[in-house]
Amino acid sequence: MTRNRARKQAVRAAMADSSSYARASRIAKDTPYILTEDAQRQMLAAFAAAGWPTVSDGFPEGGQWSGYPGPLWSTLSRPDQHPWDADPDDGDQVDLAVLPEFTFIAPQIVRTREAMVHRVQATTPPADLVAEVSAELAAARAREIAGLDDRAACVICGDPYPAHHLLAPTVSDKLTVCPACVFDGDLFAQVHPTRLAVALDRLLAEDLAHPAGWSAVVALLACAGGQAFFEHLGQAAGLYLPAEHWSDPSLLWIWLPPGPRPAALAGLGPGAGLKAVVDAVEHAHPDLRERFRVALAEDLEDDPDEPEADREDYLVEALWPAVIAYAVALGTQSQERPGHRPPWHVLSDSFEPGTLADHFEELGSDLDGGGLAVTFTLEVGVRTVAEALGWTTGF
Ligand SMILES: [Zn+2]
Repeated sequence: MTRNRARKQAVRAAMADSSSYARASRIAKDTPYILTEDAQRQMLAAFAAAGWPTVSDGFPEGGQWSGYPGPLWSTLSRPDQHPWDADPDDGDQVDLAVLPEFTFIAPQIVRTREAMVHRVQATTPPADLVAEVSAELAAARAREIAGLDDRAACVICGDPYPAHHLLAPTVSDKLTVCPACVFDGDLFAQVHPTRLAVALDRLLAEDLAHPAGWSAVVALLACAGGQAFFEHLGQAAGLYLPAEHWSDPSLLWIWLPPGPRPAALAGLGPGAGLKAVVDAVEHAHPDLRERFRVALAEDLEDDPDEPEADREDYLVEALWPAVIAYAVALGTQSQERPGHRPPWHVLSDSFEPGTLADHFEELGSDLDGGGLAVTFTLEVGVRTVAEALGWTTGF
């Protein structure tokens, strides 16, 4: 469906002008009925206002609108419409008095069964709709996670996970790891971030119970790889088309802690887009970069008498959103997997410069993955942000 969605969007972008003209000419002005076009726009705007990344098809197809708010697939149509494939706002063909209805489905791409199917009348006030759907999504994810069976183990750290939640970051099928161990130095095989990215897109879109930490790995690869990696992904993997977050990491969905939460994240729902998460964390803690520099100076045992301006600044700004993604997503994963070791051991030499260098080179990154600045930014940055959020990492 990812492929279909991208293809549809390309076609629709080309058709948008003529299509909206055709629609406008058919829809009566000042209609007393609920128009699906308005309801769809208001629904997406309400989710966007709540910090959710939203992607939308530009007009209805087969009698219904599709949308992609966060990790959901939404449809909007008039129940039992005849003819079924007519534009649901075309009063010449369909009964506009029939109230339209949303259906929210997770996971976004259904291979086996839905984890959530929730219907909401289009007359529901948008803010209420977001609250209702958020609660359903959180409950569905909690149900799915509770049903997991951890029968496999990460080859690096040994932590138990369901086998399909461990992914291969190298050319070897046997070396499957947890989100904390992707950049570990003990993976003695050729790195393969393209293959990992394809597997990540699939897991995130098809499995509502995926470990929250995988979003952090996407954030790091996307921030480091930038447009070069996005274009490479588009060409490198057959019929697969990469998800939007590879070209714009701010659209990446980040799961947030379901239980007690840092105040910085209190205003957000079960998850949010990376941009909304970064904004919320930085708004609550505007001194994070300063804390990072102080923490690193202490680690490096810098001479306190040396003027700060004379010290080398190791902060790699391009990776800062990924730093916040790691802290938040691993904090979420710690809560969502009680009884398991929290994944903070990522801070114990799991950002290995040689492995990062290999990945960044494959990504086509401008950044020096093997440089100390990248490892310092990740290790000290993630620890600093996690501690600012009130979480004890132990490292
Ligand atoms: Zn591991």
